[in-house]
Amino acid sequence: MNPVVHIMVAGQKALYDMFERATHQWLCPLGAGDELGRVHIDWIPAVAVESTIQRQMEHRVLVLEDDRFGEGLKTIDAIRRTGLGIPILLVTRPGATRQQLRRAITAGATEIIAGGASADQLAAALERAVVRAHTTFVGVHREGTSERILAVIGGAGDGFMTWTPRDDGVELSPAFRVQTGMELASDAELTLADWLARLHEDDRDRVRRTLQGVADGILPALDCHYRLAFGPSAYRWMLLRGRLDGAAGSGTVSAVQTDITAGSGVMGEVAAEGLRDPLTGLPNRVVLLSRAAQCVRERRTDESYQFAVVALDLDRFARINDSFGHVVGDELLRGVAKRLLRSVKAGDVVARTGSDDFAMLLTGIGSVADAESVVASVAEAMAKPFSLAGHQVFCSFSAGIVMARSRYDRPEELLRDASLALRRARSSGGDRSQVFETNMHMNAVNDQMTEILLKRGIPGDQLRLHFQPLFSIQGPRRLAGFEALVRWQHPTRGLLPPAEFIPIAEDSDLIIELGAWVLAHACAQAAPWISGLTNREGRPLVLNINIAARHFNHPGLLQEVARALEATGIRPENLQLEITESGLMDHVGIAIPNVRRLREMGVGVQVDDFGTGYSSLSYLTQLQVSALKVDRAFIKMLPENHAHMQIVEAIVSLARILGLAVTVEGIENLRQLNAVADLGCDCGQGHLLGEPIPSEEVEAWLDRHMKL
Ligand code: C2E
Ligand code: MG
Ligand code: MG
Repeated sequence: MNPVVHIMVAGQKALYDMFERATHQWLCPLGAGDELGRVHIDWIPAVAVESTIQRQMEHRVLVLEDDRFGEGLKTIDAIRRTGLGIPILLVTRPGATRQQLRRAITAGATEIIAGGASADQLAAALERAVVRAHTTFVGVHREGTSERILAVIGGAGDGFMTWTPRDDGVELSPAFRVQTGMELASDAELTLADWLARLHEDDRDRVRRTLQGVADGILPALDCHYRLAFGPSAYRWMLLRGRLDGAAGSGTVSAVQTDITAGSGVMGEVAAEGLRDPLTGLPNRVVLLSRAAQCVRERRTDESYQFAVVALDLDRFARINDSFGHVVGDELLRGVAKRLLRSVKAGDVVARTGSDDFAMLLTGIGSVADAESVVASVAEAMAKPFSLAGHQVFCSFSAGIVMARSRYDRPEELLRDASLALRRARSSGGDRSQVFETNMHMNAVNDQMTEILLKRGIPGDQLRLHFQPLFSIQGPRRLAGFEALVRWQHPTRGLLPPAEFIPIAEDSDLIIELGAWVLAHACAQAAPWISGLTNREGRPLVLNINIAARHFNHPGLLQEVARALEATGIRPENLQLEITESGLMDHVGIAIPNVRRLREMGVGVQVDDFGTGYSSLSYLTQLQVSALKVDRAFIKMLPENHAHMQIVEAIVSLARILGLAVTVEGIENLRQLNAVADLGCDCGQGHLLGEPIPSEEVEAWLDRHMKL
């Protein structure tokens, strides 16, 4: 959570109203409402400024109206003398002279807005000020912060410079000199080259070209970032924004230099509180986006400038958290952060963007292959186990890579596409990276469409249930029950199998709605056969219903189950929920009590797709499930595949020890059936034994079958 940024407007009420509108304007287009959304805007009368500001340090951006030009400057001066480095936007009356403006900047105004500015200009100025409030108002009281940083942050804020290309002369404000380490040089001797010489050599040419472009009127505005020498080997990131005053070719370029080091992450000696993830010390998503925005702008001036955004996600982090506890989980995240930082070069950004989500901004790279090789070195770094509280923990990750392209206007779009690629990497099993491809975007749009239609389709009666028979396969084959399998009668695409919509529903709470529908309707539709029939051994039939992990972990599930049983008269022992192995193990802490409560109600719980989900034996004993269903991947190649035969055999003996029944899915031929029966499996399901049957045909199927 980032702190609230307070914007305090001192001036007439009309100005406040204008800014309040501007704040909304700014929040929307930035699209970062949730990160920077906590902006609070306040109005105070001009006379109260000085006393209020000093009492309320948390008011971090001041908008000051200065009608007569003069009073405002005194106020700024007074504030600056207290050492407060908050951004101050000075709103002046129209027609202030250039000299007056420059005086205001030197006094310590961060930005000047000429009266009559448009809402867009106000919004842009506010955006800059709020970002600056995040980045510059930092660590002032931190121990060990050098005098110079204190001077930069606590002093007059940003530095101001002008450059006249005609004679290459520059004029620098005191703050600019402090930032640049040129306190002693006199204006008369200074040229642009003196300043450029203090830039990182990789940045010099580019910055000079950009400045020249502005001076020649080729670029509409100045907006670039670079590294500025800070001590013998350290650099700080600076942002230079400005414009051309006067005619192209003969005018003067005025610019404000802002220290954005905290925003550039890795090498920052000062980290902004609100922009830093407290656990790992990495910058957060806001910073990543802000730096990516600079890179996007950079690409606009220089097409050859390449950069990439990589989204990273730890595989099965929740499980590590559950297994070893949060302290170890936190330790792991810190360890991961360190290894990530070691894998990138200075100037790149590594940010923590979510609980176990990280992102990297790789700058100045040549091609996608470079980005992939950084990801490969991350993989190498992560391959070694983490040693945490006496445990050796292995942790793989998935990554999505996106290269900057000219169609990206906003940094959020890059992060979005990196996340889409990441999603693909994850759904292909994790522990891999995936480069973004445009069709993923199409797929994401389609998925969204599907989600919207499905949301309507559930109450709109478009879901259908099929029931696939289950048989006991030890001794004579007997009907043991049915598994309910959902389908969707899509408004245009026909009857869709679950693979087409369940994964989409699982990405949101829609799966809970869908699951609730299945639970209620499967019980209602199957009640006549489930409650009324027994198999030929006199055993009651069992109805199996699939429950997605998200739904299983939802607190309302137990009640839904109880309600479905009550409404349909199905007895608890005739109902069995199927939850995939990974669904149970990923949140084992919640799963253990959930399974226990269901079992106490008398409802069975079966581990579906068993063998694919990295179960830990110790959890399996604690989970108190009633049965295991062996994943069909192990059945497909039976009996020829020796390893798979052994796996099924091992699962059966494990189940015996734990007192669990074993079901096998995907039986398609007799050889498979005989093999699993010989290995001791109790129950079978598959095309050989019976296809899924539309619910309205089950009665007829039963009539035929029960007569046999
Ligand atoms: P599952 O629970 O493992 O279900 C078994 C799947 O195997 C079904 O696919 C079934 O039609 C298919 N199958 C049955 N016999 C054979 C066979 O001999 N060979 C092969 N290759 N496949 C066979 P279906 O109906 O497409 O469902 C796929 C998955 O979708 C299910 O896998 C389950 O994970 C999920 N699913 C289905 N219905 C629901 C539901 O109501 N809720 C939730 N959360 N998931 C569901
Ligand atoms: Mg199933
Ligand atoms: Mg299954």
